[in-house]
Amino acid sequence: MSKEIPYKIYLDEKDIPSSWYNMRADMKNKPAPLLNPGTRQPMTAQELSGVFCEELVKQELDETTPYIEIPQEIRDFYKMYRPAPLVRAYCLEKKLGTPAKIYYKFEGNNTSGSHKLNSAIAQAYYAKKQGLKGVTTETGAGQWGTALSMACAYFELDCKVFMVKVSYEQKPFRREVMRTYGASVTPSPSEMTEVGRKILAEHPGTTGSLGCAISEAVEVATHNEGYRYVLGSVLNQVLLHQSVIGLEAKAAFDKYGIKPDMIIGCAGGGSNLGGLIAPFMGEKLRGEADYRIIAVEPASCPSFTRGKYAYDFCDTGMICPLAKMYTLGSSFIPAPNHAGGLRFHGMSTTLSQLYHDGYMEAVTAKQTEVFEAAEYFARVEGILPAPESSHAIKVAIDEAKKCKETGEEKTILFGLTGTGYFDLVAYEKFNNGEMDDYIPTDAELEEALSRLP
Ligand SMILES: *Cc1c(COP(=O)(O)O)cnc(C)c1O
Repeated sequence: MSKEIPYKIYLDEKDIPSSWYNMRADMKNKPAPLLNPGTRQPMTAQELSGVFCEELVKQELDETTPYIEIPQEIRDFYKMYRPAPLVRAYCLEKKLGTPAKIYYKFEGNNTSGSHKLNSAIAQAYYAKKQGLKGVTTETGAGQWGTALSMACAYFELDCKVFMVKVSYEQKPFRREVMRTYGASVTPSPSEMTEVGRKILAEHPGTTGSLGCAISEAVEVATHNEGYRYVLGSVLNQVLLHQSVIGLEAKAAFDKYGIKPDMIIGCAGGGSNLGGLIAPFMGEKLRGEADYRIIAVEPASCPSFTRGKYAYDFCDTGMICPLAKMYTLGSSFIPAPNHAGGLRFHGMSTTLSQLYHDGYMEAVTAKQTEVFEAAEYFARVEGILPAPESSHAIKVAIDEAKKCKETGEEKTILFGLTGTGYFDLVAYEKFNNGEMDDYIPTDAELEEALSRLP
């Protein structure tokens, strides 16, 4: 059965998954629980529900149910931009002269420009269902804030975004997209919160950080009746929602009887990778199939490859629960890499456990080589990729080149998580030859790791 494979494998609307897949149900070694930062005991549902929506707390703690039904309202929203195409990169293969078959799952086909909308809409839905007035969050580069403001507009929820001050000033376009969707966007640190005022008093003129914005968003959520805090990556619930990426990719492959040999994705907090690999990892965990799975992280923020597997804080303010993960230490401040979405010191607890148990590999890529791959891809395949996504492109191209040397016809799947229209300052730096590759020294890493709780 050698059916001609089209450039784009589209599914029908009715093929949008009806359930999310929860990898934890098939893991023998479950990810370690979140700990209360005060008592160091596992966080209970009751403790978590002061910060997060109730239904999302249930999903966060559920490590036994393999399939969790996607509510119809969320599926209806997914219909506006899903199923996302699985693209056969024929042009890239030809240009590379490789016998490898390269596919990518493209998640940049919505206004927010990334996969983050898949979880934003789910989180907004559960907040609405709980009768809340609104949600708070932080955003760095702005992709998550944009996705969440779109989702909140759809369900008519208030959305308060704390945006790291330096991005607020440097990325006015992202900010205005969020405001257009009705979100209020506050540069962080701000005078609005106690923690913000404290940080401003201690560090006047600071341009902020993600950790600080998280602390402000959590404070506003917990001090205002009818508000909860939502997060765009790292958490189990986010990986669960992102499993639509992998489920659709697998369904598209199944239509043509294709099995990928390797699956490649960039890893910031781990949500797109966790979602892309979900059903494939499920088969691997159940011993039904084998796949090579590769996480790609920036050389400037190498959590998997140079971090420690240990309990750590998720935020710099140290108010959030402790998570056991591959971490560089919550005090680690990565160099100003242009892949803003990959600048997190930790990693999903689920992916951390899988990596620890040898179910997946991790590699790093340097910034300039990532942008070289981005430019190559843009010219050949036509899509202007996000710098984050380009980490996966870089390694997919490397693997395809290896196939050229060995003559192996491997099938490669990678996640193209988003588009790079708001990252043109980074492209400008690259085009001007002004981009550098900062790689932290062992001493720098040791410094932050020595302060792990
Ligand atoms: C946020 C983001 C990422 C990284 O986040 P994960 O949670 O690791 O998936 C990757 N690509 C894009 C386009 C993003 O916006």
